[in-house]
Amino acid sequence: MSARDAACASLQAHDAGAAWDRYDVVRAGADGLNAFLCVDRAATCADPAGLLAGVPVAVKDNIATLGLPTTCASRILAGYVSPFEATAVRRLREAGALIMGKTNMDEFAMGSSTETSAFGPTRNPLDPTRVPGGSSGGSAAAVAAGVCRLALGSETGGSVRQPAAFCGVVGVKPTYGRVSRYGLVAYASSLDHVGVFATSVAEAALGLEVIAGSDPYDSTSAQVAVPSFVPEASDASRPLSGVVIGRPIEYFPASLDPRIAAVCARALETLAALGAEIRDVSLPSTDLAIPVYYVLAPAEASRNLARYDGVRYGVRADARDLQAMYERTRSGGFGAEVTRRVLLGTYVLSAGYYEAYYRRAQAVRALIAQEFTQTFASGVHLLFTPTAPTTAFRLGAVSDPYAMYLSDIFTVTANLAGIPAMSQPIGRVDGLPVGGQIMAAPFDEATMLRVAAALETALGPEAHR
Ligand code: GLN
Repeated sequence: MSARDAACASLQAHDAGAAWDRYDVVRAGADGLNAFLCVDRAATCADPAGLLAGVPVAVKDNIATLGLPTTCASRILAGYVSPFEATAVRRLREAGALIMGKTNMDEFAMGSSTETSAFGPTRNPLDPTRVPGGSSGGSAAAVAAGVCRLALGSETGGSVRQPAAFCGVVGVKPTYGRVSRYGLVAYASSLDHVGVFATSVAEAALGLEVIAGSDPYDSTSAQVAVPSFVPEASDASRPLSGVVIGRPIEYFPASLDPRIAAVCARALETLAALGAEIRDVSLPSTDLAIPVYYVLAPAEASRNLARYDGVRYGVRADARDLQAMYERTRSGGFGAEVTRRVLLGTYVLSAGYYEAYYRRAQAVRALIAQEFTQTFASGVHLLFTPTAPTTAFRLGAVSDPYAMYLSDIFTVTANLAGIPAMSQPIGRVDGLPVGGQIMAAPFDEATMLRVAAALETALGPEAHR
């Protein structure tokens, strides 16, 4: 049986019903994970012969679904049902998948812990006193809890990879343009991606294959052929010979938690034992990525969120005149983090500050992208790094916004450069999963997934210890 058929068969054999009974993933509060904002237990299969026939898939609540609300975990969109469906969701349905529900997230995908949701935080299934990461925390938790084996998330700065790392599952962010964003609620359009979660590399690859490809409804989707992403198992003793994997020194700073560094070092040794050449490389602008991201993402967000004014979408506050209605709708509808981003974004785009912040940030973004291009052009095929600087932290433990922003220090670069990147479990620290990140050249998801699958096989159950 091919690896692709095996991934298909294992996904189709998954019984979500049993998982629903085992975990109260829907229920909020201390006794539930609060991973879902709504569920559809009556979802039906559109194609019994499809690749994903009968496979339950959870969808992040900022991805439009017909018949189920799309709220972005915000009060301003409470109860909003989209009149159209996202292309990624439509492709899943056409492949026979059951859209089982919408998952909790940080409000408008702004956050790294799923704590900014207007509908309460999601808890990490591996330790319910901890966060699942974010912003796609509900999707990561649903997969980690075994409710479903495939889920959609979105990424602007790490929102698939970081929760995947915190929950001990696989999370893939494809190349910018590889998956249509039609129906993904815009946060920062030049950085936004749709991504997938799964429990294995092969299953994530299959999910990506189903949703990838150009789409006339998204002008940024790329006209690039979609290869088969599911890697075939190799029986060679050194399956990665000829593959050069860069170890960017800036992603292993002296301040990195030595226990996380040790888990990464072991993964790199494993990759070397599989035949890969490990080469130290330097991406000197890495430390500028967080400041640049927090100029560009809020700038774009402030424009994208201007449409939520109480007129066209979602909730409208009562008021005596139009101006007061806008103000009451927006100040009552958005939470603190979203408000902070809109204010920050409006500031950096305003006259006098545009040149000083926005323009300069764009120039540095180009520099960051160029460093990746040069590294890949120098014969390095992939880069290996930790996904996040910490393991899952306790709910409420990170209250300073800037400290929260640093959670994405190793992930925002791939969004700024538009390159594919993924996280997979590579070990544990104090019983909590550590994610290893692999980044690749644009549209080379296939190599990234092949190496990830080889690493997954070689680490075996060790990856989860
Ligand atoms: N944590 C980052 C932010 O808040 C990234 C979020 C994301 O990727 N959607 O912007």
